[in-house]
Amino acid sequence: PAAPPPAEAVSGRAPVLPPGQFHPVEVRGLQKSFGLVEVLGGVDLDIQAGEVVVILGPSGSGKSTLLRCLNMLERPTGGSVRVLGTEVTGRRPDLVGLRRRVGMVFQQFNLFPHRTVLQNVMEGPLTVLKMDRDAARDRALALLTRVGVAEKADVKPRRLSGGQQQRVAIARALALEPEIMLFDEPTSALDPELRSEVLDVMRSLADDGMTMAVVTHEMDFARRVAHRAVFLDGGRIVEQGDPRTMLAHPESARLQRFLNLVY
Ligand code: ADP
Ligand code: MG
Repeated sequence: PAAPPPAEAVSGRAPVLPPGQFHPVEVRGLQKSFGLVEVLGGVDLDIQAGEVVVILGPSGSGKSTLLRCLNMLERPTGGSVRVLGTEVTGRRPDLVGLRRRVGMVFQQFNLFPHRTVLQNVMEGPLTVLKMDRDAARDRALALLTRVGVAEKADVKPRRLSGGQQQRVAIARALALEPEIMLFDEPTSALDPELRSEVLDVMRSLADDGMTMAVVTHEMDFARRVAHRAVFLDGGRIVEQGDPRTMLAHPESARLQRFLNLVY
């Protein structure tokens, strides 16, 4: 990682900031239930500016729900979620503004199938940012170049490999110049040989200091790129810490079992 892991983050506790300052993500006692089913049972999680946090955990442990509560695709049923200083559980959160500032990339790329790659990336700058077409096109082409798919600008997404589509999805999210990026198993739908091209783009984002929360089973990425790993099980954080230490020497029996299954 470019920045050294902040020492405080490794303990799972962000440093106390002066009054009026905030961490990009401040989650306190987050609860989420669907009907009677509790999916998140009180999650505390701060993410510092420039920090890359990897979220690990078995299927159904609440990883996606946690991410979705951060950009308000789900409404928490308890606790508080502050993102970029705004209490999203408050009465009138600015959803449009916050979603612009918090980019998200999904397992299934979710590109518009009937638009070209370039149009997919221009869409946000045109409609959300009201940029003019030339500026939106310049930005989109620069981002496509950055993720290595500029030569596919004028084709439809279905003509691209999964790895290329996912890189376009990252470019599309970046086109709104988000301050936080959320990734939900971005490589899980990809053939193994296509995963590294997506992970390389994510690593370069991390190197540039992007604040990131990444749900993934990519243990190499966790070890090499993340500043902190968080292990979620049953809707609670069971263990967290420096990824290398935590993955090499898991403390809880649950994390040990999980790692034995993933490897
Ligand atoms: P993960 O991403 O770790 O696999 P999820 O956050 O997707 O876990 O889901 C956690 C649990 O919440 C699962 O048991 C899932 O079935 C349930 N769940 C998720 N979304 C909904 C929903 N919209 N309605 C009802 N149950 C849901
Ligand atoms: Mg999930």
